[in-house]
Parts: sequence; C-alpha cells; structure tokens
Amino acid sequence: MDFTIQYTKEQEDFRAEVRGWLDQNAQYPSEWGDIPPETDHWKPEMRQWALDFSRKLGEKGWLFPLWDKEYGGGGLTGDHDIVLKEELGNYDIPESGRGELQAGSIMVHGSDEQKKRFLKPILTGEVVCWQLFTEPEVGSDLASLRTRAEKDGDDFIITGQKIFVGDSFDADWLWCLAVTDPDAPRHQNIGAFFMPANLPGISIANLNLVVQRGKRLVSMDGVRVSREYLIGEETQGWRVAQTTLELEHGAAGFLAERDSTVRDVIEYTKETVRNGKPLSKDPFVQQAMVENFIETNIHRLLGLRNYWMFNSGRTVTFHGSQVSLLRKDFNLKAADRILHALGPQALINDEKWGALKKRVEHHQRETLVGAHPGGTLEVQKLIIARRLGISRTQERAAPTQAPTQGR
Ligand SMILES: Cc1cc2nc3c(=O)[nH]c(=O)nc-3n(C[C@H](O)[C@H](O)[C@H](O)COP(=O)(O)OP(=O)(O)OC[C@H]3O[C@@H](n4cnc5c(N)ncnc54)[C@H](O)[C@@H]3O)c2cc1C
Repeated sequence: MDFTIQYTKEQEDFRAEVRGWLDQNAQYPSEWGDIPPETDHWKPEMRQWALDFSRKLGEKGWLFPLWDKEYGGGGLTGDHDIVLKEELGNYDIPESGRGELQAGSIMVHGSDEQKKRFLKPILTGEVVCWQLFTEPEVGSDLASLRTRAEKDGDDFIITGQKIFVGDSFDADWLWCLAVTDPDAPRHQNIGAFFMPANLPGISIANLNLVVQRGKRLVSMDGVRVSREYLIGEETQGWRVAQTTLELEHGAAGFLAERDSTVRDVIEYTKETVRNGKPLSKDPFVQQAMVENFIETNIHRLLGLRNYWMFNSGRTVTFHGSQVSLLRKDFNLKAADRILHALGPQALINDEKWGALKKRVEHHQRETLVGAHPGGTLEVQKLIIARRLGISRTQERAAPTQAPTQGR
C-alpha cells in the first residue's frame, strides 16, 4: 500500500496562493534576530507585529479557515486547512493570543445575537481574549470557585480574583466564571460571562513565574456587568465551561505539532561532539532520542485522529483528555531524557553555552508549567475514567460543535 500523501490540484493551487502571500507578509524584520520564546522579553514592536500578522491572517479568513464566513472565518475545508498549517509551519511566527476556546463555547451556548456580535472580532483576530477560571484558592476543583456575580436588576456585580490567567497580549475580552446563585447545588450555581476587559473595577497585575509568558492576577472589585454578556442561562456556566475545557484539552485535534524542540535536539546530538564523537553515537543518547521521537509522533497522530473525528462529526468522549494527558506526560518525560542526554547544557540559560541557544533550557521550564493549563495530568485521568464509566460518576463529553457542521 502506498502511504504517500497525494495533494489535489486545488490544494496545490491554494498552496501557491498561500506561499505567495506568506512571502509578502510573514517575514518579521531580520534585525530582530531570534524571537525570544518567553513573550515577556519581547520588544513592543514584536508584540505589535504579531498582533498585526494575526489580523492580516484574519482578514483573509485564514486565522480560522474552517469557520463560516458569516462569523469571520474562511469558509474553507480541511483540505485547505492542511495546506495552510503546513505552509505556516515553515515560518517562525510569533503567535498572538487566539480566542478559539471562547468562540467554540459561544457557538454552542450563545444566543444568535451574541454569535453575531462576538464571533467576528474573535475569528478575524481583532481582539484578544483571556480565560478567567482559576482562582488563588481554586484550581483543579474548579466547581468550588468563589468569585461572586450578584444580581442587581439586569446587571451582575462581580467580585473576586483570578490567578495564572491571561496571555502575552493585553486582553480586550474576558471569559469569566462566577457564582450567580450561592444557594444552588454545586455545578448549578455558576454563570459564564464574556465581558469587556476595560470595565471599571477590574485591575490586572503581572506575575513573575517560572516561565514568563504574561500570566496575571486579575482582581474584580464590584464590576458591573450587563446581562448581555452572560453566555447561556445564568446558572448554566458549569456546562458552558465544560465546552471550553473540552476544546482546551484537545477534542478538536490539531494538524501540526506545536513544539519543535524534540526534533531539533535530535539534530543537535548529531552535530555536537563530546569526547571525540557525536553525542548521537552514545547508546544512551540514541535510546533517549528514539523514545522522544516515538512519543512525539504518537501525540501527533492522536491529534490528527481527533481533528478527523471532530470535523467529521464523530462522537468524541475521552479523546480530548487522552491527547492532553499524553502531551503533558510525554513532554515531561522528553524534557527529563533531554536533560540526562545533554547534561548541564540543557540547563544553561545563555545563548552561547546553552543547547540550541538556550531553547533547551526554556523547554525544561516550559514542560513543567505546561502540565497545568486546562487541568493537570491527574485531572485528565479522572475525566478519562469518568468517560469510560469506571469512576465514581459516569459522564459524557460536553457539547462541542465543529465549525464545518451543517456545511
Ligand atoms: C502556564 C499556565 C497557564 C495557565 N493558564 C490559565 C488560564 O489561561 N486561565 C485559567 O483560568 N487558568 C490557567 N492556569 C491555571 C491552571 O488551570 C491551574 O494551574 C490548574 O488547573 C491546577 O490548579 P492549581 O494550580 O491550583 O493546582 P491544585 O489544584 O492545587 O493541584 C495541586 C496538585 O494536586 C493534584 N490534584 C488536585 N486535585 C486532585 C485530585 N482530585 N486527584 C488527584 N490529584 C489532584 C494536581 O494534579 C496537582 O498536581 C494556568 C496555569 C499555568 C501553569
């Protein structure tokens, strides 16, 4: 059987169009050199370039190619999406914050009016959205969140704090969970709000964490939020949040690996000579690199499987959490193997002495913190057990909707 991928004439024509456009638009000024992996170290002009590039992609419908044009997407097919992702993968493009989780949640739970109003700015890259779920006292047990949204006529008054939230870019919109009915049972007491980030009473502080990627502490002190920003019913927020988390875990799948460090470290071991021979000739290093290679590919293939299942309308159950769990687990193991294979070079935060111009050192930190967003490994295991029906409770996956559904 021949497994070579065959592209159609339409795909090749589209590739030529994408290449031509990227040639013109995807090169950031060469005098910037390498873009630092930690966005807190970016110059303001890098930040602006990344936002502008996202918006240009959005204008063409290439930021969210599969979504309907009506909502600001490209109205394109998976065939186009594959070509776009492959071509974009050839560029080292600093990515700006995207709102796919918020858009996906509004699509399922928002009213028609909210979809018309909120989706286009997200899908065209006009706005940056942050997810405000985690609180200083509440992480894995999200249903115990304490931020309050008290009703006042047609408005809600929100008070509380959210931590480890935000992104490299300043927010225009906040996706915030808050308790709307403190007397209602767990899971039936929360509202989900998609609200402007500049409302009076919101203050934002930077956090200096292990990886410097714009994480913040957001404090809300009596923030008046109109009901028009409530997505779903006022005590349906838990259900709404489950859609967001389902997507965050990976239910929609992906076409390309996000992390190129494992691949580049393999090349590094071929080029780096220690004790008179390339590192890659050491049997221990060989084993470590092969294990990393295999696991990266397992993760990539599971991402492709989810992409196919999601976009062809198949029922996704444990699949999103499976991808999330394996990504986090593989990443931690990969970093550990790299550390043992390369030794101190993996930990040196110096352009000259650190492996891959200190990218490996960054990878060591990134994989540690990367075990948390969207739920830790233990939380993913719990979800999988529930979906398989072998836990204390049994549950189905939250509703999600492929952007191509109905087309
Ligand atoms: C880089 C990064 C980005 C993030 N981005 C966002 C964001 O954009 N928005 C947002 O809202 N939050 C964000 N978070 C927060 C993230 O969702 C939380 O860190 C995560 O949910 C874990 O919560 P916690 O840190 O409070 O840990 P805890 O909940 O205190 O957990 C501590 C440890 O206990 C384990 N544990 C907890 N409960 C159980 C259990 N029942 N069974 C077994 N083990 C358990 C956990 O696995 C973990 O190892 C981010 C975090 C990081 C590090």
